[in-house]
Amino acid sequence: MEQAAGSMVQTFEELLAGSVAAHGHLCPGQIVGVRMAMLGLRLLDFAAPPTYPQLKQLIVFIEMDRCTGDAVAFVTNAKLGRRSLKFVDYGIMAATFLNLETDQAFRIVSTEESRDLAVLYAPAEPDYRRQQLEAYQVMPDSVLFRVQEVQVDLTPFDLPGPTRRKVSCVQCGQVVRDGREVVKDGQPYCRPCARGGYFRNAKEIAWGDMNWSPQSQIKETKPRTGAGQLEERPALLS
Ligand SMILES: [Zn+2]
Ligand SMILES: [Zn+2]
Repeated sequence: MEQAAGSMVQTFEELLAGSVAAHGHLCPGQIVGVRMAMLGLRLLDFAAPPTYPQLKQLIVFIEMDRCTGDAVAFVTNAKLGRRSLKFVDYGIMAATFLNLETDQAFRIVSTEESRDLAVLYAPAEPDYRRQQLEAYQVMPDSVLFRVQEVQVDLTPFDLPGPTRRKVSCVQCGQVVRDGREVVKDGQPYCRPCARGGYFRNAKEIAWGDMNWSPQSQIKETKPRTGAGQLEERPALLS
């Protein structure tokens, strides 16, 4: 297994501690998610967390917006902003780990039986939640998970890298990136216009302090010198 400089394989305990800090609390979902990610990475022969070269080959699909999802994202370092993390809203406690280079992919599903079997793995713990916390740390992977080898067909529009296409919705004018437009009668529409979205009754509004910018903070705290405004601009805007 290759190891990039600065990247260190972590133990379950270290990954869990990091995941709990990022997520905000220790919960059964953190334990299941950390273990799910560790198994997924292991099946791909990747380190946990992945080395930088491995990270560039990895795409993770998360099928639930629950505690477990945060842990999977934390351990794999997959991120929406890098397009390496895909949220698919199935409401299923599962995640798929794809190696873009080899097309190898494993979908790991958290078993329902593991919930019922928690009592067997932590018989001394009467509290159900603490029983789960303890049991999920000792349960073998084979009880906690089912694994499917799967094929994932990603289009170039789903891959990391620069935006591949931008088109404007003919109804509202919104720019839609990466082939997510819906074509009706040969015309491109954004999904909310074409299919209805998760919001409705959108009205453009004005709001208090509309012209605020980080620049206004600088102006408030620093006396104006009359020097060119460009020099006051934060470096990230240049
Ligand atoms: Zn949680
Ligand atoms: Zn539109």
